[in-house]
Amino acid sequence: MSVPTAEGEPAEGDGHVSAPGGAASVTVRVPAKVNVQLAVGAARPDGFHDLANVFLAVGLYDEITVTPADALRITCTGPDAAQVPLDATNLAARAAIALAARHGIDPRVHIHIAKDIPVAGGMAGGSADGAGALLACDTLWGLGSSQDELLDICAELGSDVPFSLLGGAALGTGRGEHLTPIDVDGGFHWVFAVADGGLSTPTVFREFDRLAEGTDIPAPTAAPALLAALRAGDPTALAATLANDLQPAALALRPSLADTLAAGTAAGALAALVSGSGPTTAFLVKSAAEAALVANSLLGSGTCRTARVADSPARGATVVEGP
Ligand code: ATP
Repeated sequence: MSVPTAEGEPAEGDGHVSAPGGAASVTVRVPAKVNVQLAVGAARPDGFHDLANVFLAVGLYDEITVTPADALRITCTGPDAAQVPLDATNLAARAAIALAARHGIDPRVHIHIAKDIPVAGGMAGGSADGAGALLACDTLWGLGSSQDELLDICAELGSDVPFSLLGGAALGTGRGEHLTPIDVDGGFHWVFAVADGGLSTPTVFREFDRLAEGTDIPAPTAAPALLAALRAGDPTALAATLANDLQPAALALRPSLADTLAAGTAAGALAALVSGSGPTTAFLVKSAAEAALVANSLLGSGTCRTARVADSPARGATVVEGP
């Protein structure tokens, strides 16, 4: 099976697009994430790190539309589309291939990604597309997989993919893929400063290992105070407990991020941190009105490419158009 790399146009219309065989297309919406805590353990013999990863889904979304086609192909639109691989390495393609293989069918589908999540930004955009394509194909092909079956495939695709399917808030352990959902009472307001260019997650972990050389790294654990703040929906308490062990590594690789963090804090954010492996920076704010003010200040500061406002927790992968 081949996956052409030529960019095509998505099917337009109301989401119900005629396709060979008369089947409709299916569109799934999937959120980005921010790690409100990312505790990183020492490198394991397999090269991965044990994590205590507190995920929060935030309201920036990719939309994945799948339509029956003669062969698997991928297209992508959006501001960062040029950086998205359109071959079989794309996590959305890998998801369709993995699901089809489990059911002994051919993944003959056109996957279109309407990408709004920054690429290589530490917001799990690729993982979102993997989870979205999985749910979309499962729906299109009428497979009716259980959530546990889908989560199994997600875990094979990558550490952050299961959370993209679930959304909300969750504690991830192991490589981050063993999830315990967390009920959040209320919501949080965020501003995200999108940097120019991405940071490779493996490179950031390698820098973490380099900086940690010769030190004793404790086993990663979630902070009880942070979990309590999250459950209570208390932004001031959450601001006091936000923590990202990858932040020093991301700052070492991209020192200019310190200016972005300082600009958001000076503009009134309750707290600022690098999102996951970066280079997106995240600012927790008190209210939607405050979010707009901080976003404007960040834009004016010249320390980021753009600033986005988002609420959390957001729903996980959701079918928004389909049969
Ligand atoms: P994470 O937060 O999970 O570490 P990220 O948000 O930093 O990830 P992604 O946007 O997921 O980064 O992209 C990381 C790399 O994954 C990209 O540089 C790209 O080569 C590859 N990739 C594979 N599939 C996709 C996809 N559907 N969208 C974006 N990137 C993808």
